[in-house]
Amino acid sequence: MLYWANPSKQYESKKNKIDKSIASVLKKNKYILGQEVNLLEKEFSKFIGTSYSIGVANGTDAIEIVLRSLGIGPGDRVLTVSHTALATIAAIESTGAKPVLVDIETDFYTIDFNKAKQIFNSKIKAIIAVHIYGQSVDIKKLQNFCKRKKIYLIEDCSQAHGSSFNGKKLGSFGIASCFSCYPTKNLGAIGDAGLITTNNKSIAQKCTQIRQYGLKNGKSLIKGRNSRLDEIQAAILRIKLKDLNKDNKLRIKFASYYSEKLKNLPIVLPKVRKNTTHVFHLYVIKTRRRNTLLNFMKSNGVILGVHYLTPIHLQPAYKKRIAKTDMSVTEELSNNIVSLPIYPEIKKNELDKVIRLLKVFYDKKKS
Ligand SMILES: *Cc1c(COP(=O)(O)O)cnc(C)c1O
Repeated sequence: MLYWANPSKQYESKKNKIDKSIASVLKKNKYILGQEVNLLEKEFSKFIGTSYSIGVANGTDAIEIVLRSLGIGPGDRVLTVSHTALATIAAIESTGAKPVLVDIETDFYTIDFNKAKQIFNSKIKAIIAVHIYGQSVDIKKLQNFCKRKKIYLIEDCSQAHGSSFNGKKLGSFGIASCFSCYPTKNLGAIGDAGLITTNNKSIAQKCTQIRQYGLKNGKSLIKGRNSRLDEIQAAILRIKLKDLNKDNKLRIKFASYYSEKLKNLPIVLPKVRKNTTHVFHLYVIKTRRRNTLLNFMKSNGVILGVHYLTPIHLQPAYKKRIAKTDMSVTEELSNNIVSLPIYPEIKKNELDKVIRLLKVFYDKKKS
């Protein structure tokens, strides 16, 4: 079976280094928030181009902790898209703030700036920009808007480790940014992990405190929680971070291979925003015949993904509580999208198999 993502292939390709680093952590008597986490934080902030980075337990926590560090909570609203992982919304709600959801752009599937302006209200204290699939939000425009409104811009970079806008890495535009290192992500642990980046010293300090019971110099000064990153995951991430540029380049190469070979099929291929680097966490196409395609591919040994089948505003847990706005692009997209297999370790013959099957599928339809 060929899957849309396959993190075990990445483990196999880096097995020697990963096994060695795990063994070295096991010998030390420090398994949580030690040297590996410290070094990862230094190396990751250098990679993104920010002054600080803070390791946390997962991507959802990264968002929640950033919001708390900004004083966002009950009575506040946070604006973001409905076309995102449940994590983005779960994080907002766990602070006591309420999510306000908005539609996406037709071409790039990221936040629709004009619709966001229309539904903006004074209770909104922050916007979370989700760089979905690795595609950059129109981040400069959003940054200027947030400045004018005097609200915070937070980036959700969980699918965009290494993407950039005008040559500057995503994760360095907002007041703080959040990364999930879930195993399938471009920078993925072998378990749960997350990272926060920021240039703001006081926010970095607050996030570090909130991560561990609000502690600073042995005293709990602010309300905290436990969202620590462990040494084994940090050690694994350090190894993968060294290869991240190379691995992202492979994803980009495979994405352009798909785009070249599939350009004559009756499907919508991903577009890349001008002056940005898209790291293709996912390669998502649009088709009107999704279910038949999913079944056809599965019967031929290829498991495609759907990101996401149900937009947040239609999820049972949220639909009664989310204010209704125009979500036509989000809804149309969620009915038609499919994620093709893409990851650094995928083989050329596997890409060719996907391409050949897609060609067979759409040829049959014509006859
Ligand atoms: C994966 C992901 C998250 C959060 O991830 P967890 O690590 O599972 O908590 C948040 N936002 C987006 C857009 C994601 O893709």
